[in-house]
Amino acid sequence: MNCIFCRIIRGEIPSTKVYEDDLTFAFEDIEPQAKVHTLVVPKEHIENLNDMKDQSLWFAMLKAAQEVAKRKGIEKSGYRAVINCGPDGTQIVPHLHLHVLGGELLDSQMG
Ligand code: AMP
Ligand code: ZN
Repeated sequence: MNCIFCRIIRGEIPSTKVYEDDLTFAFEDIEPQAKVHTLVVPKEHIENLNDMKDQSLWFAMLKAAQEVAKRKGIEKSGYRAVINCGPDGTQIVPHLHLHVLGGELLDSQMG
């Protein structure tokens, strides 16, 4: 599997790990859009949000985002959790990922 995020999860491409559990992996975004920018991905290759069918995996993704916020020290100051899906959603990497953004006041515009 040539998917870049699958390769990061397998350790074939270096990343800065923030959190990991049985179902999820979280690492620093290589081109941060905010002072804190961490990606949470399912270890299983799931292309995008449309293919997310598993309740326990969805819960694990959100728990991982909470844990990332704690570890990055932005739990109280606040953050944004974003999933881009498909072409109009500007999803570039076809392995589902949740962006955790914070560490500063974010632009209030959503699009
Ligand atoms: P998206 O536009 O939602 O598909 O976002 C993809 C994200 O993956 C972007 O924020 C990229 O900066 C990030 N990204 C791409 N390659 C890597 C990499 N090797 N390590 C960490 N983040 C990456
Ligand atoms: Zn993948």
